Amino acid sequence: MSNRDEELFADESLFAAADKDRSMAPQAEPWPVLVVDDDEQVHAMTRLLLNDFEFEGRRFAIVSAFSAVEARAILAERSDLPVVVLDVVMETHDAGLRLVHHIRRDLGNRHIRIILRTGQPGQAPEREIIVTYDINDYKSKAELTAQKLFTSVISAVRGWRDLVTIETLNQSLERRVAERTAELERQTALADEQRRFIENLVELMPSPVWYKDAAGRYALCNRAFRELFSDNAQQTERAIGKARRMETGQVEQTTETDAFSFEASVVGPGGDTRELLVVKQPLTASDGSDAGLIGIAADITERRRMERELHRLATTDPLSGVHNRRHILDLLEQLLTGQEVGNSRQETGSACLIMLDIDHFKRINDGLGHAAGDDAIRKTVDVIRGHLRVSDQLGRIGGEEFAILLPETSRGAGIAIAERLRGGLAALAIPLSDGRHFQLTASFGLTEIRPLEDTVETVLGRADQALYRAKAGGRNRVELN
Ligand code: GH3
Ligand code: MG
Ligand code: MG
Repeated sequence: MSNRDEELFADESLFAAADKDRSMAPQAEPWPVLVVDDDEQVHAMTRLLLNDFEFEGRRFAIVSAFSAVEARAILAERSDLPVVVLDVVMETHDAGLRLVHHIRRDLGNRHIRIILRTGQPGQAPEREIIVTYDINDYKSKAELTAQKLFTSVISAVRGWRDLVTIETLNQSLERRVAERTAELERQTALADEQRRFIENLVELMPSPVWYKDAAGRYALCNRAFRELFSDNAQQTERAIGKARRMETGQVEQTTETDAFSFEASVVGPGGDTRELLVVKQPLTASDGSDAGLIGIAADITERRRMERELHRLATTDPLSGVHNRRHILDLLEQLLTGQEVGNSRQETGSACLIMLDIDHFKRINDGLGHAAGDDAIRKTVDVIRGHLRVSDQLGRIGGEEFAILLPETSRGAGIAIAERLRGGLAALAIPLSDGRHFQLTASFGLTEIRPLEDTVETVLGRADQALYRAKAGGRNRVELN
């Protein structure tokens, strides 16, 4: 052992302290310490010195390189080395300094702590080397006692660990910032996409849609709204605004914040009347104040037309255009139950039902043909209609049999009407296609309706009996039951 080596062993108190700690038998991976030196004894000595120390429960393991070239190979493989204890003069007089350069510049390893150790103190100026080569410690070999080596290595490991921790934190922070940024960008893109979708959807909707702000201004509206209401603010307000809502009385709204709906008519851009079903949703701001309302109108013109057409088909006799059997009996039922019939309500309690049947209709059919029979039915209807009031109701209840409902009509007035009808029909001359004419008569049975006692059956029964008597009595006459 050289003098220098003895010096390295000098501090025995440190060994004693390390001995005590070792009884805790550390299990963890040792800290690797790269020793680069062409002097084999330095390796043995360093191993010996550090063998008895531990830091944070981990001992030290010497990784040896005997030249700068060998060290390069090791450093290229391992990025987990916290510290290198490096000789300056090896293959060349500045091989150690070149290795520092290689570590920092070529490998880009800024974490590994470098302890430069030279056997020739004063050969490289200490300050200049520390500044130029980014090393962390500079010791002459002679200086390195066990304590100094240990202190140097510990502070190097600590420095390395802090750098790695900061780097790891930094990386995870950067990763989280990047993830969050990407997430925000995704959400923004999604929100943009949703907004574009909603805007286009609203604009393309065939139904007028609008937003009216708290001040009553039509703040937003779509294409269908603009087309229907063009620039006519007055009509817009009348048709779908608040005023209309109060007028119609069709409003279904239980509380101020509930959606409500009503029907409205507007004159469309083509001048035709459009029927709208308007639905409105009042909006409330977060502070509870009125935030205007959203409205949507469905054009129900066609639906209403079809409903009317269906109703007409279901209630009308196709041959004559008057009420069919079911509908005239429904109207009788309504009159009996006090409901409105043809916009008028039975008020006085006096009403009449006339049943009439064309006389010897079979003969018309048989003698002049079915078409002449049909024509006779239509002409009969024309004559009857000509004598009735708007509130009277005419229905075809069989082949050539009709019922006439006369609301607000006394028995005397009923008889008078029946007589006029009888006379009118008897006077009718119906032209044939060959220029000839034919005539017909009808028999009438009349009964007064007693709303409180009657049913549809009792009324029909009495009218039938009267009609039967008119037939039996010679036809072309009015009988009363
Ligand atoms: P009455 O004086 O007793 O009423 O004799 P009628 O011949 O008028 O009575 P009947 O019930 O015997 O004959 C009615 C005929 O009306 C029988 C049927 O073929 C015919 N008829 C029923 N519906 C139609 C129709 O829609 N068009 C035509 N042309 N004839 C019909
Ligand atoms: Mg008949
Ligand atoms: Mg008949």
